[in-house]
Amino acid sequence: MNQQTVEIVIVGGGISGLSTAYYLEKEATQHNLAVHITVLEREATLGGKIATQRQDGFVFEGGPESFVTRKLEAWELCHELGLQDRLVGTTRSGKNYVLHNGRPAIVPDGPGSFLSTPLLSLGGKLRLLKEPFVKPRTDSSDESLGSFLRRRLGDEMVDNIVKPAIGSVYLGDVDAMSVQVSFGRFAEMEQQHGSVVKGMFALMKEKRAERKASGEARPPKKPAFATLQGGLMELVNTLAEQIEGEILRETAVTNLSHNPTNAQPYKVELSDGRSLNADMVVLTTPTFVMADLLEGVVETAVTEQLRAIPYNPVTTVNVAFNRSEIEDPFDGFGVVVPESETSQLLAIEGMSAKFPHRAPGDQFVLRAFVGGQRQPELADLPEAELISLVRQELAQIFGISARPTQIHIQRWQPANPQPPVGHLAMIAEVERKLADQLPQLYLTGAGLRGQGVPDCIRQSRNLVEQILADLQPASQTLAA
Ligand SMILES: Cc1cc2nc3c(=O)[nH]c(=O)nc-3n(C[C@H](O)[C@H](O)[C@H](O)COP(=O)(O)OP(=O)(O)OC[C@H]3O[C@@H](n4cnc5c(N)ncnc54)[C@H](O)[C@@H]3O)c2cc1C
Repeated sequence: MNQQTVEIVIVGGGISGLSTAYYLEKEATQHNLAVHITVLEREATLGGKIATQRQDGFVFEGGPESFVTRKLEAWELCHELGLQDRLVGTTRSGKNYVLHNGRPAIVPDGPGSFLSTPLLSLGGKLRLLKEPFVKPRTDSSDESLGSFLRRRLGDEMVDNIVKPAIGSVYLGDVDAMSVQVSFGRFAEMEQQHGSVVKGMFALMKEKRAERKASGEARPPKKPAFATLQGGLMELVNTLAEQIEGEILRETAVTNLSHNPTNAQPYKVELSDGRSLNADMVVLTTPTFVMADLLEGVVETAVTEQLRAIPYNPVTTVNVAFNRSEIEDPFDGFGVVVPESETSQLLAIEGMSAKFPHRAPGDQFVLRAFVGGQRQPELADLPEAELISLVRQELAQIFGISARPTQIHIQRWQPANPQPPVGHLAMIAEVERKLADQLPQLYLTGAGLRGQGVPDCIRQSRNLVEQILADLQPASQTLAA
């Protein structure tokens, strides 16, 4: 048993930093390892991109508004933290739309809507049906998401439906983003089963067989997306409450140095003039901040690679209205805007249609996305111009001329990473170099292997496993 307390500094109090701290403490206790964790957060509020604002009965989300439950990590963490009764799921009736000739058109989600959708021509529809018969690529190296989907589903599907959806969700360009980071599961299906459709059927069959073999009943169906009644900040606050170590807000890391001859080799300098010595450091900030902190501490190639990962800005604008003043309140989950449309928005989300608890009484909330890779300069518009742009667009698309009852603006400059083709191989190389040059300094977070909230939690869990393996004396074996 290792009796010496390991001093661990985690830089960043977003979901990645907090979930790393939480799982690290939990696993260390289970493995009889003494650790002391300090989480350092530059801002006064924890959560990073998770930014819930509750006011006058509204739950406004400035960043992520829900998480997908197909990836289990966020769902499981909420249960583990005792938040299961606070979870709210989407109903199955919610529809997604693409703006088409200035009007929202439903994204086909079944045979009926597929046949009638104006978003695809007959040729585009027939091309989609060919997916199971399209020859798989033999090379398993990374490619762009656009190139993968164009091969499998055809250009029309990509240009008319996928590209605008990716542009609003990831704020990036499908033809530049790595398929391995964003949709690695589908690329694997092609490699293993020759087609995505065949891969999905194989997966369903496999799951059925597993359940049959184990005698387990079919688990209750989860909603596709979930959030918390008080917004995603509830997850952040609950995590923070359960972390036993220290969490220092309004404390930025300004410099990092490494001296392997010291008993505690890392020195972490803070914005308040103090410094901390640590055995281990975990960086969970955006990758360009990691690059700044590692400048001069590791070889330049590493900092250059981290700094080269592009990020795009976005501003979200939540707008509330009196429902009674709107002729036909939009009841879909969201509308994404293709480049071919004249609208200057990236997307509009039906915030209260998706989760009614977000708006009190007769209120109705939409959220506009402005900026992204397409028009980054719009994310910077002064407040009055931004509001005017959003109101004009809502009038044009939904015919809403009513005066908003509330407006909530959140600017992310920059927002989400845009991992380019070859990103995962580059990250693996960076990590190899760090392991050589800076032992016990680790990276995790949205800029590495997936940016959704569940992706961030998954990476934290994987990192904790790795840290535990590194901390355990060779003679001790890890519990499963
Ligand atoms: C508008 C928007 C909508 C989104 N919607 C969804 C969604 O619906 N569902 C979903 O799953 N995901 C969504 N995402 C993605 C997801 O929210 C983020 O990828 C994720 O929250 C990032 O978490 P993180 O902890 O890795 O990074 P961050 O949240 O960026 O946290 C990093 C932290 O590091 C701190 N920091 C930076 N520099 C320093 C320093 N020098 N010293 C100390 N601290 C520092 C920052 O202040 C920040 O708190 C959305 C993102 C955005 C921007």
